[in-house]
Amino acid sequence: MKIAGRVAVDDLPRICPLLSRRTNPRFGEAQTRVVQVGSVRFGGESPVVIAGPCAVENREQTLEVAREVKGSGADMLRGGAYKPRTSPHDFQGLGLEGLKILREASRETGLPVVTEVMDPRLVEQVAEYADMLQIGSRNMQNYPLLIEVGRARKPVLLKRGMAAGLCEWLGAAEYIANEGNFDIVLCERGIKAFSNGEYSRYSLDLNVIPAVKAETFLPVIADPSHATGVAGMVEGASRAALEFGAQGLIIEVTSDRLDASKPKCDAAQAISPGTLRRIIHYIDARQEQLVAAVHAA
Ligand code: PEP
Ligand code: MN
Repeated sequence: MKIAGRVAVDDLPRICPLLSRRTNPRFGEAQTRVVQVGSVRFGGESPVVIAGPCAVENREQTLEVAREVKGSGADMLRGGAYKPRTSPHDFQGLGLEGLKILREASRETGLPVVTEVMDPRLVEQVAEYADMLQIGSRNMQNYPLLIEVGRARKPVLLKRGMAAGLCEWLGAAEYIANEGNFDIVLCERGIKAFSNGEYSRYSLDLNVIPAVKAETFLPVIADPSHATGVAGMVEGASRAALEFGAQGLIIEVTSDRLDASKPKCDAAQAISPGTLRRIIHYIDARQEQLVAAVHAA
């Protein structure tokens, strides 16, 4: 039977000739093309840990969490200034003011900052303040946005669409590469499966990590926070993703000192700086074994 739009992994050389290992031989087998953000190296010697609040809520909260994640050993700071929310009545982020707060937190801690851009018209603005541009799960197939970040000449963190297959995800990355920007880091952030909020938010697709590494030379990291939606699952999900070969993690953290004012979004998945420290210790202790993580045949 012929089906319009049917794709298989064997089609990747046609879908993404710039990013497929099979068609772009610039990078040898099992090798990752390192994506550099300041002094941070994705796909380098050691997994990269990005941590911070879900959203930039105000200056005090962001600086407090930034100091905590720096103290715990994180490599980069995260935080949303423009938030994709289910309801237009929910907190939408501080916008430009949030970007300025992130810049200040980055300056103070020395941590490079990644933040989401949702609107092609705002790519230039966000790129002025961020060290890395995040494309969120809901926008993975927003092609005008992908083209715009491809032209921005800034590293891009491309989250997997929550209902996207591997070919769709790599096809989306190809839009960015097609504009000449190969500084792309992929992020598995949980997919729609059977959890449906009954026992977790999404389902962390560990298996896709070695598959990505088999098909492309782009680094791939995992987001255990959105994948599970449960703070108590984040440490285990982080370890599992690392064992499956994830080259980094992006984790939502809150500060114990901010308990009075719980995070405005995704509070149930925010871990404490102490838990973040344990995850980073795990990386340090497992360093040598993690290099030899799962490989897809
Ligand atoms: C986020 O990282 O802030 C976020 C909204 O994640 P996702 O796009 O994966 O839902
Ligand atoms: Mn969040």
